[in-house]
Formats: sequence, structure tokens, C-alpha cells
Amino acid sequence: MKDTLKHQGLRQQLVSVVKSKGVTDENVLKAIAKIPRHLFMDSSFLDHAYQDKAFPIAADQTISQPYTVAFQSELLQIKRGHKVLEIGTGSGYQTAVLCELGAQVYSIERQRELFKKTSKFLPKLGYRARKLIFGDGYKGLVEEAPFDSIIVTAGAPFVPKPLLAQLAIGGRLVIPVGDEVQTMTLFVRKGPKEFEKTEFGEFRFVPLLEDKN
Ligand code: SAH
Repeated sequence: MKDTLKHQGLRQQLVSVVKSKGVTDENVLKAIAKIPRHLFMDSSFLDHAYQDKAFPIAADQTISQPYTVAFQSELLQIKRGHKVLEIGTGSGYQTAVLCELGAQVYSIERQRELFKKTSKFLPKLGYRARKLIFGDGYKGLVEEAPFDSIIVTAGAPFVPKPLLAQLAIGGRLVIPVGDEVQTMTLFVRKGPKEFEKTEFGEFRFVPLLEDKN
């Protein structure tokens, strides 16, 4: 697992691209500059790792586009020690960004192959999530709730109620909602039954799946 000066240089260029698209959060940009994205991808895609694009990983899934990862991470407004739930561990790249931001990370993945692979891989890079879970993200993780923020990294046809219910007061849910194309949506919990909703631009994700495969 090599991280060369060339990779680091390419990462700096990637940070500039992400910045030029409007991401300003310094901690998020630092995380992108630091994390060796090429190591999260299958080797045939090594040359592409620092393009601002999504790429295939195992189990017909994708590692999200860096801009999308940065945009969602910025919306979460993570502070050190925040308890954060991620739905869709995938390659673990977004998980690593959350760890770099100082969050206590819980992440759920429903593809066993990815769950196993990423559970082994992340600690090798020094990223220790609080818990990686093989399960269904639609249900959230009620035994660890409430969360300061929840991030969904797959396209959700609707907003799962358990995720809203598992937010702390003041907590933030960032979720791409839609079928073919998704609208990035932020919910901030203002009170026990009160949520403020803000919509951002359109994005494309692999679908958040309800039933097994
Ligand atoms: N954050 C990941 C993105 C992976 S793509 C990364 O940066 O690599 C979205 C992931 O969500 C896929 O790995 C997919 O298997 C997973 N997923 C889809 N439906 C899910 C569900 N119901 N619960 C948990 N994970 C799900």
C-alpha cells in the first residue's frame, strides 16, 4: 500500500478542483488532501483515483465522487467528538473523511462483501470507526441513537423515518432523495417533532436498496 509524492501532488490538484466547485470547509479540504483515495479503489483504477469522479468498487457499487463526499461532509458541520451515522460504508472513503473530522463513526453496509473488505481495510490505514455494521441502513441504528449527524451515501427513494427519529435535537441528516436523480437534502432537527428542510442541487448515486439484492 504505497502513497507516493506523485499521489500527494495529484491530491492537491483534486483539492483545488473541489474548492473551485464551492467547498470551503478547511477541515474537509484537509481530509481530502490527506486520505490516499487510490488505496480505496481496485488497482485497475489507480490512474483515475484523483479525478473528481465516482468509480466502480466491488459488488456493483461505487466510490462516491470526491466533490460529492466533500459537499455532504461540509453540510454535516462535524465537530470533534460528534457521533455520526453513515449509511452505505462502501469503500470506506467517506468513513475515513468522517474519522479525519474527528467524529465517532458508526457505519452500516448491506453488501456483505464490501462490509468484510472495508472492515479489514480501514484499520490498516489507521481509521477506526466506533462500529462498522452489516445491516440495513433504512432502520438506522436505534441502539446507538441519538446522532449529531447522519449521512446517507446512496440515493434514497424516500426519507426513512427512523433516520429522522434518531437525530439529536440540533442534529443534521444529509440525504440524497430521488430515484434516477437525487436532490441533496438537509434536515435539521429543531425540536422533538420539528425539522427544517433545505434542498441543494442534483446528484447521482447508486440506489439505497430495501430488499436483499
Ligand atoms: N460511502 C461510500 C459510497 C458507496 S455507494 C464510499 O465512499 O465508497 C453506496 C453504498 O450504499 C454501497 O456500498 C451500497 O451497498 C450501500 N447500500 C445500499 N443500500 C443500503 C442499505 N439499505 N443499507 C446500507 N447500505 C446500503
